[in-house]
Amino acid sequence: MSSALQSDIKFLKGVGPQRSELLSKELYIDTFGDLLKYYPFRYVDRSIIHQIKDLTPLAQFIQLKGIITGFHQKGDKKHRRLIATFKDATGEVELIWFQGTDWILKTLKVNTEYLIFGRPVIFNGEYNIAHPEVELYNDEIKTEGKGLQPVYSSTEKAKKKGLDSKGILKLTKALIAQLKPGDIAEFLPPEILSAYKLFPRADSMLNIHFPKSEALLHQAQRRLKFEELFLIQLQLLKMKASRGEASKGFLFEKIDDRFERFYKNGMPFELTGAQKRVLKEIRKDTLAGKQMNRLLQGDVGSGKTVVALLTMLMAIDNGYQACLMAPTEILANQHYENILSLLKGMNVEVALLTGNVKGKARKFILENLAEGSIDIVIGTHALIEEQVAFQNLGIVVIDEQHRFGVQQRARLWTKNHLPPHILVMTATPIPRTLAMTIYGDLDVSVIDELPPGRKPIRTVHRTDADRLRVFGFIKDEIKKGRQVYIVYPLIEESEELDLKHLTDGYESISRAFPRPQYQVSIVHGRMRPADKDFEMQRFVKNETQIMVATTVIEVGVNVPNASVMIIENAERFGLAQLHQLRGRVGRGAEQSFCILMTGSKLSNESKQRISVMCQTNDGFVIAEEDLKLRGPGDLEGTQQSGIVNLRLADLARDGNILEEARKCAVELIANDPLLMQPAHQPLRRFIEENSKDKVWSKIS
Ligand code: ADP
Ligand code: MG
Repeated sequence: MSSALQSDIKFLKGVGPQRSELLSKELYIDTFGDLLKYYPFRYVDRSIIHQIKDLTPLAQFIQLKGIITGFHQKGDKKHRRLIATFKDATGEVELIWFQGTDWILKTLKVNTEYLIFGRPVIFNGEYNIAHPEVELYNDEIKTEGKGLQPVYSSTEKAKKKGLDSKGILKLTKALIAQLKPGDIAEFLPPEILSAYKLFPRADSMLNIHFPKSEALLHQAQRRLKFEELFLIQLQLLKMKASRGEASKGFLFEKIDDRFERFYKNGMPFELTGAQKRVLKEIRKDTLAGKQMNRLLQGDVGSGKTVVALLTMLMAIDNGYQACLMAPTEILANQHYENILSLLKGMNVEVALLTGNVKGKARKFILENLAEGSIDIVIGTHALIEEQVAFQNLGIVVIDEQHRFGVQQRARLWTKNHLPPHILVMTATPIPRTLAMTIYGDLDVSVIDELPPGRKPIRTVHRTDADRLRVFGFIKDEIKKGRQVYIVYPLIEESEELDLKHLTDGYESISRAFPRPQYQVSIVHGRMRPADKDFEMQRFVKNETQIMVATTVIEVGVNVPNASVMIIENAERFGLAQLHQLRGRVGRGAEQSFCILMTGSKLSNESKQRISVMCQTNDGFVIAEEDLKLRGPGDLEGTQQSGIVNLRLADLARDGNILEEARKCAVELIANDPLLMQPAHQPLRRFIEENSKDKVWSKIS
């Protein structure tokens, strides 16, 4: 089936072969449909024109009308800038360009009426506007009159060839004039349109480009955002369903010997309600005959490890092997020690396989894994190497999953004739909206309860001026028998400089906390793993009271006696990282503290981050704030998962629409999984025709 929207863009009036190439190369517009989906990024109301005398320092983007009275250039060759004096009936402002000045000089003329759009800022008591949008105030604009006009983004190259916002607007107008009723076909079934009160597709497309009113624009945006998110959710749910069918999974039918024994006698504490609930969810999966693919989210210290261990014991009771992969050597070691001591006296073979295990020891482990005499293997990336083979791997647990790339994870699956069950664990809580988008095809379990008796960590912000007081506080805590982390950020481009910062810090700490009264450890990424472990172990055994480190200790490390976390240059860390670091304390029964050290001058964004940290310990709240501050593209773990290029929807702001779209997709799949009902045919065809837009790689 071919529709008008699939026509090559070169057949649009005013395009032709040259422009079509430009459209394709610069703006990725190949068809009529692509142009239609090239949405404006902003709208202006031509009827609202500010006067220069009314400018205030708080003004956002505004529109002015006037003439340029003259140009002059400033600065040397390297830092040249072009300045135009712009005047309306009430005053003057300066327009400034730092780039593309030749082109500006060629195109803009003095004493000609222009409309300009930009944000005025005060510099040396004068207003100026850097890189304003400028357009001729011609008859066409005058007759446009009131109403919202679309503004389209473009590239320098395209602009030079006449495809600036105005140029694109003209093409879009031509396109809409050329389309016939029915060309922009509705594909959402009527029941969905009415249940979710959605605007029809054709009306939405017309109004997103040329809104008849604010209200209609809003309706159009809501509908098109819903459509965008709904299609992604459908795709994810279908992927999940087909994987369930395709991948038979191992049955863990028996729960006897080792699980029971550990549960009844071996566990040093009672599981929290949340841990029990998650365990039940896992139990249900492993009894269903399908492959489990579950994401376990739980804040730092919520007790994910023991849930993982119990899951692995289920596998072992049924004759399978289990594997636990951690992102760092330190963490793998810690898991190994921890699990060994928990399983003491039980008949379970546990091995550690990291890059450090070499020669005979390594050969021994590889042989025993292949023969099946090792039950649980714990390790790092070393586990995904070619030579590692299992007898019958039943479950793979991946700790701190955001640290691994998608492909690294996928390689473990291929180690079996049937894919093993997968449990991925993360302590970097992902905001709900984002989880629904990136992990929509995984089942998600959440441990939303901390073990009893934990006191919330007290977090405060201190500046360099408070340093002596902070040191005094550290001494008091050490006197009480506690231990302290002091963390330095990686700030410079070069590792050498980072190391210098850290060692400078270490030296000044060593001076403030002299031996033999105090013992200070240092750990950083450039140390030999054996040395790192040695220092870590000294701290774990309470032989040293202060651990000076880089972010290598961010993940997973568990020293319950450590009660103070000092983060130097805290303004340099992202929220997720700060929260992870803070999670290293507050693991014992004692009151713990986190002290965020910064200089006295902070950007607004840094201030906000610090204040969020001081206000809450809740990882999910922090993740939401992070999403708002940074946008989804920058969140940890999103880059490698191939997160969507959403055209319209904004995951930080459109959470409500996403929830609706998700709910709608779930209902639809439940009621007509293969989209066979007559009312669903347009939707099915639309998905088939647009499947080239697919942005997903399989997550796991
Ligand atoms: P995370 O979820 O960050 O990996 P861990 O599994 O390391 O957390 O657990 C943190 C600490 O809490 C460990 O010392 C662990 O022994 C302890 N713990 C876990 N579950 C419980 C519980 N139900 N009751 C008491 N302590 C628990
Ligand atoms: Mg952990």
